[in-house]
Amino acid sequence: MRKKIVAGNWKMNKNLDEAKELIKGLKKEVKKLKLKDDTRVIIAPSFINLRAAVNRTKKSKIEVAAQNVHQEKRGAFTGEVSVDMLESVGVKTAILGHSERRTYFGETDELLAEKVNTVLGKGLEAIFCFGELLEDRKSNSHFKVVEDQIKKALFHLDKTSFTNVVLAYEPVWAIGTGETASPEQAQEMHAFIRNLFVKEYGEDVANSISILYGGSVKPNNAKEIFSKPDVDGGLIGGASLKVDDFTQIIKAI
Ligand code: PEP
Repeated sequence: MRKKIVAGNWKMNKNLDEAKELIKGLKKEVKKLKLKDDTRVIIAPSFINLRAAVNRTKKSKIEVAAQNVHQEKRGAFTGEVSVDMLESVGVKTAILGHSERRTYFGETDELLAEKVNTVLGKGLEAIFCFGELLEDRKSNSHFKVVEDQIKKALFHLDKTSFTNVVLAYEPVWAIGTGETASPEQAQEMHAFIRNLFVKEYGEDVANSISILYGGSVKPNNAKEIFSKPDVDGGLIGGASLKVDDFTQIIKAI
């Protein structure tokens, strides 16, 4: 059945020494947890620290993801990183469509559809992020917004592609704000999302795709959020930067 996943998005934090230190601490704690095969732990350091992260997590349960990748395979795109480059340093997963990429770097659903194709085309996995703004929720259009984001970026894919897709519902109003969706709000949206997949692709795909919740998940609220039946884990920002906090969240899964 579907995997439980705790993924840490480090964003633009941790230089090389700090990244090594955090990985060292996490490795020690994760080893002690003796996690089962149905549970995955992923960290997403910045591009420049990916290679070190891959090398240092080789014999551990911790997997390494990129926070973004370019949609083109190669070429004159100064400052960008390709899927081939990720693969060549041993990275198998890329986060796509994080709200900070959408907001500060103008990433649209159409562009994200291209990125999804490039990532899956290379045989890598995508953690696809989406979620509504506060005004969408206030105007009660959050379901429609989420549905559009998913349809535009993912629903051109065939059934089999979804073995390499993880979904991350991240209400923008809850990211880095200390404000969390209530476990009931998370469950309501996750069930809605799963039902979109039932309608488009059938029960098999819907029941095998992991849907993570992201938005101010902390050690003190993780357990309750993760206890909801359609919440398969979390994408964690701030609380993934400290060994203790991230370990507590992994324990909660
Ligand atoms: C995120 O950036 O994906 C996130 C969920 O951040 P935070 O946990 O800090 O809200």
